[in-house]
Amino acid sequence: MVAISFLFLVCFFSFHLHAVAQPRNSTIRLGSSLTPTTTGKSAWLSPSGLYGFGFYPQGNGYGVGVFLAGVPQRTVVWTANRDAPPVPRTASLVLTTDGRLILQSPPRRDVYIVTDASQKIAAASMLDTGNFVVFNSDEDIIWQSFQYPTTSILQGQHLSAGMELFSSVSETDQPTGIFRLKMQHDGNLVQYPVDTPDTAPYSYWSSFTDGKGDNVSLNLDNDGHLYMLNSTGFNIKDLNTGGYDDTNRTIYLMKIDSDGIFRLYSYRLDRNGNRSVIWSSTSDKCAPKGLCGLNSYCVDVDREANCICLPGFAPVIEGNFTAGCERNFSSDSCKSDDGTIQYTIQAAENTVWEDNGYSEVTSTTREECDTACYEDCNCEAAMFNDGKCTKQRLPLRYGRRDLSNSNIALIKVGIYSSINEPRKHADEPKDGNGKVHTDILIIGLSLIGFAIMVLVISGALILCSRVFRYKRFSTDSNIRLCEIVAPISFSFAEIVAMTDNFQEEIGKGSFGTVFKGTVMLNGLTKVVAVKRLDNISNQGEREFQNEMRIIGRTHHRNLVRLLGYCHDGANRLLIYEYMINGSLSDVLFTPERRPCWIDRVEIARDVARGLLYLHEECETQIIHCDIKSQNILMDENGEAKISDFGLAKLLKPDQTKTFTGIRGTRGYVAPEWHRKLPVTVKADVYSFGIVLLEIICCRRSVNWSLKDEEAVLEEWVYDRYQAGEVGKIVGEDEEVDIKQLERMVIVGLWCILDEPTLRPSMKKVLLMLEGTVEIPIPPCPTSFFSSI
Ligand code: ATP
Repeated sequence: MVAISFLFLVCFFSFHLHAVAQPRNSTIRLGSSLTPTTTGKSAWLSPSGLYGFGFYPQGNGYGVGVFLAGVPQRTVVWTANRDAPPVPRTASLVLTTDGRLILQSPPRRDVYIVTDASQKIAAASMLDTGNFVVFNSDEDIIWQSFQYPTTSILQGQHLSAGMELFSSVSETDQPTGIFRLKMQHDGNLVQYPVDTPDTAPYSYWSSFTDGKGDNVSLNLDNDGHLYMLNSTGFNIKDLNTGGYDDTNRTIYLMKIDSDGIFRLYSYRLDRNGNRSVIWSSTSDKCAPKGLCGLNSYCVDVDREANCICLPGFAPVIEGNFTAGCERNFSSDSCKSDDGTIQYTIQAAENTVWEDNGYSEVTSTTREECDTACYEDCNCEAAMFNDGKCTKQRLPLRYGRRDLSNSNIALIKVGIYSSINEPRKHADEPKDGNGKVHTDILIIGLSLIGFAIMVLVISGALILCSRVFRYKRFSTDSNIRLCEIVAPISFSFAEIVAMTDNFQEEIGKGSFGTVFKGTVMLNGLTKVVAVKRLDNISNQGEREFQNEMRIIGRTHHRNLVRLLGYCHDGANRLLIYEYMINGSLSDVLFTPERRPCWIDRVEIARDVARGLLYLHEECETQIIHCDIKSQNILMDENGEAKISDFGLAKLLKPDQTKTFTGIRGTRGYVAPEWHRKLPVTVKADVYSFGIVLLEIICCRRSVNWSLKDEEAVLEEWVYDRYQAGEVGKIVGEDEEVDIKQLERMVIVGLWCILDEPTLRPSMKKVLLMLEGTVEIPIPPCPTSFFSSI
């Protein structure tokens, strides 16, 4: 049997490997489908059986992608919808008779696997190269997985300029991990942690080929040769010399592993798929920046990376390196009034960190550096190196031990004390270890009784907060906190070309006109929406760039992505990803397009997640100021994304002050706008409440064509709720879970209370929408009861 399979594999490798040239010989026809658990039908195999496209086990369900099926250890080489939650065993993958490749998993919405195919699919094929391709009716390839690499490059595949590979969470967990490898337009192949700009301070490996042209690619040949070619096909760099076994017995795969190192693997097909590493980007396991999470540093012990928390810190999640460390005490301010919290300085010697100081003093001593940090309330850590002292705020990141580096991280560590006198620091030099420990011991002994009590109480609190954090970091992989992906700056001439001289107008808003356009990004043609801003204040180049940077850093699956901008003379334009399904208002208020109840519940949660991110999870808090159903756009999968966030900031950079004029749109604006009170995130919560009611009822917030008592949505909904008739606010023929409907209505009513402080935060709103917390009966929207 083994011999037969081997012969089979030998035969297939006599074909040459390029997809475009390879005859299609395992056609997947329209109407074909797969399910995860049907024996022999969970994947479409390539002719030799070496590669498969279909379901693979992922978490507590299944993912979809391409994997090496012909070796004992199944290796996933490409994933579709990588960060989507796993699907259950009841899911199916269907090549529909009308030419769409979709993943069905009711009651979830169908998900397109092939999203960019501009034409109808006529057939598909899993090729022996590992490339999954789809064809149109002329048998031309219209989409191929080789064009969208995820973690790996296979023989014959290229990583072209602008493209990136992203590591996985772990070898068996395919969602996006924390490292990336980018083939840059400057010709350099560079490794960075995710969520960082493409700049030198963040890189941890590079091919040193910058300046070699804007069309350099990374290539892998059949003999394991990994090398870089420029636009004229000239070899500019060998990453290895190649020349390995190029017979059909061995295949090669290059992959960025979850530990941040990229490696070239060989699989010996004649030796039961035996896998070996034949080249790797580094042998230093601590080289990848961010392997150890915040406030911890990496130490190489016997060629294995270990993470150590800073002094005074404990792991956020025991055993999880990347979750980082948090202070094992808490304080609201640097110096507490009653003197119960005091500080000392502890040292982590020979450690290097990201240089992120806010103040620097040269020609100083270590003791002076200690004192400078101790006495500065803003200082949470200081770096002392060669007479230079740099004060920093927490968190510290990208830490690693480097014995050849004399840098010392001096950390301000909190200690509990019953002594009301603040510590006389200047009289007590802290050399980081012995003396400090004595201090802690003396104070600690006097506190022992008190500490036991504190421990019991805080133990319970810490457990709660860790459980929450764990949920936040590990289960919601869709939230990629504050990802820094800088929007690209375009010249006006480029915008003119992009929009074909502003040919196709999509719509008009109060800030300007929106046009459809196309642009090349990461080597791919992307459809974009270009918003020409008319009513923008006369902002300087720097302010505009700064705002773009902030908006560009906000990245969440429920926010419309800003891809670029133009600040050229008097022209100000913003380039957004194009949302094919238009706005939520188009969808809700067009009877034929009205989403079913389950989808509406999902849409409400999508919007809540996007707002929660803007309010609480992003580096710079953003108050949207104009939440309404026209500003929520729908992507190709029917997922809702908030647009126009950051525009308010662009118009009024300091959002902490009161706006002079009313922003926002009639019917959605919170009462505090009219009262000229300071506007907070709760104004967005109000507008969200109105949108939520619109989502529930599929009607506009104000509609004067209806009877007087029904014209204003919030009043009508409150009256129906009071009368115990919530069922009446949805169409009679609609199938609705009445309990869920009531819950949604109550959440909406809490959000639209007149008094901002009574409205729940978006975090609370989301928990309520998800049904994880109880919701009290809402007061009348114009009353002043206690908040929830
Ligand atoms: P206002 O400016 O008062 O908030 P608005 O949201 O309708 O009103 P714009 O955001 O300028 O105005 O949008 C105008 C039109 O362009 C809307 O119909 C919207 O659906 C469409 N549009 C905006 N951005 C995109 C996008 N990224 N993809 C697809 N269509 C878009």
